[in-house]
Amino acid sequence: MSKKQIVILGGGTGGTMTANRLRRRFDQDEAEIHVVDRDDRHVYQPGLLFVPFGLAHVDEIVRPRRRQLRGGVVFHEREVEEVWPERDEVLLDDGSVLPYDVLVVATGVRLQPEETEGMTGPGWNERIFTFYSPEGAAALQGALEQFSHGRLVVNVVDMPIKCPVAPLEFAFLADWYLHERGIRNKVELVYATPLDGAFTKPIASEQLGSLLAEKEIELVTEFNADEVDGVGGTLTSYDGRELEFDALVTIPLHGGAPYVERSPGLGDALGFVPTDKRTLQTPVKPNVFALGDATDLPTSKAGSVTHFEAEVLTENIARYFAGQELVAGFDGHANCFIETGFRKALLIDFNYETEPLPGHFPTAFGLPLLRESRLNHLGKLLFQSVYWHALLPGRQIPGLGPAMPSRGKKRSPIHA
Ligand SMILES: Cc1cc2nc3c(=O)[nH]c(=O)nc-3n(C[C@H](O)[C@H](O)[C@H](O)COP(=O)(O)OP(=O)(O)OC[C@H]3O[C@@H](n4cnc5c(N)ncnc54)[C@H](O)[C@@H]3O)c2cc1C
Repeated sequence: MSKKQIVILGGGTGGTMTANRLRRRFDQDEAEIHVVDRDDRHVYQPGLLFVPFGLAHVDEIVRPRRRQLRGGVVFHEREVEEVWPERDEVLLDDGSVLPYDVLVVATGVRLQPEETEGMTGPGWNERIFTFYSPEGAAALQGALEQFSHGRLVVNVVDMPIKCPVAPLEFAFLADWYLHERGIRNKVELVYATPLDGAFTKPIASEQLGSLLAEKEIELVTEFNADEVDGVGGTLTSYDGRELEFDALVTIPLHGGAPYVERSPGLGDALGFVPTDKRTLQTPVKPNVFALGDATDLPTSKAGSVTHFEAEVLTENIARYFAGQELVAGFDGHANCFIETGFRKALLIDFNYETEPLPGHFPTAFGLPLLRESRLNHLGKLLFQSVYWHALLPGRQIPGLGPAMPSRGKKRSPIHA
């Protein structure tokens, strides 16, 4: 084949994995691979959960992006301004233009706290925080250290969000942290969500709701945050309910990258990229693919999902170049450890069709599903090393493939 030009927008989880997998797949004389990202700081985002509790430091979860890319991948430290699908070109913020044969959109989501009235006004990063960014997580760590009594409210503003279990994990870890400090009885912990339960999927939602109750964390459902008063310490919903807080931990509104909205035909009204749920090709043009949080796919916005997608995407790019039919290989597989505090964690595994079920992963002898265990907690902690050394470099991990394993799952919804 003649030398192809592959341009990948975003050098986070999905962009890096895809670039490295493609580099392994194609020789230098077959394909030139370009990755564009606005900065050179690759954040291991699951680590942000631990920063507020002093269990990790931001420096320990950030590495240079360039160093995560295999030799022969060209890195552009630039902002993407616009994609011109008609011309097969991308415009960067220095005015330069990158032509492509295949484009991969992997620019994730944009946090939009400013979209909730009052959120970024007085009190932002003083009594209103988010651990979804490194700066926010570090500011929250300082504030939690000083927190001695009062109401700590955790609020998800709206769905979709990345890692939908992370806010629950935060609440569970806050319960543990306050116990450790001997002040749990002086703090009211509240979890306010726009959902009608603790989580989106019924069986997991019931299990996680029971855990909240067990830990005396008040669950407030169908709470759609409208405005925040950072001086008075009040969070108000659209239907007029008020939640008083001394500290508010927000998971702000998520949207797609602004350039997606500017690029003709690329995004939907929220800036996410319509994407075929099985092949990962986009309808804008056959040579444009997308993966990770940037897509509109009806599965979790999670690193595990992005990893499974990267495997299917690499295959489909090779098929596209070879003029072959694409493989409808992505089943929506998601896999998440859920920290529950006191050195325990749950594990959930699901896809488009199957909700999280009890049992074991990946086989009947594997890690317990939907049940708290120390093994799952160890799995969560070990994952950072797996991320840097196996997932990002694009190595195959035995037993961890795109298709959801069903062998260890208990089909009837009998709780473990
Ligand atoms: C607190 C927290 C905990 C999490 N925990 C887990 C977990 O336990 N398990 C799990 O599976 N997932 C977890 N996730 C989710 C996971 O980190 C994301 O789903 C994953 O990183 C998505 O990969 P991505 O490539 O789509 O986006 P990202 O990794 O976010 O990469 C997007 C990249 O695009 C770049 N970019 C955006 N716009 C532009 C532009 N205009 N120009 C140039 N560059 C641009 C950004 O700088 C960024 O580097 C967690 C996330 C958070 C925030």
